[in-house]
Amino acid sequence: MEIRDFQELLGRTFLDRDRRRGLPETFAWLVEEMGELSRALRSGDRDSLDEEFADVLAWLASLANLCDIDLQESAGKYAHGCPRCGSIPCSCPE
Ligand SMILES: [Zn+2]
Repeated sequence: MEIRDFQELLGRTFLDRDRRRGLPETFAWLVEEMGELSRALRSGDRDSLDEEFADVLAWLASLANLCDIDLQESAGKYAHGCPRCGSIPCSCPE
């Protein structure tokens, strides 16, 4: 599935609800899911990781929909490798 298709699907599924919840609360949910991802990373449980990555991606798409941001275009920032040095792999000093 393309990023744009995923975002559009999330919009059809949740945008009305996301608008009622509003931007600050939707952002809070994204942060909450990041916390759950953090716990899944520490647990090392593969099923939890799959689930939490999905949830973070979904809440990020909801937030982008509320901000009228096209994540496909956002991803374009990295389409040619590192946006700073322009290399693949990145050759910026660590
Ligand atoms: Zn770089």
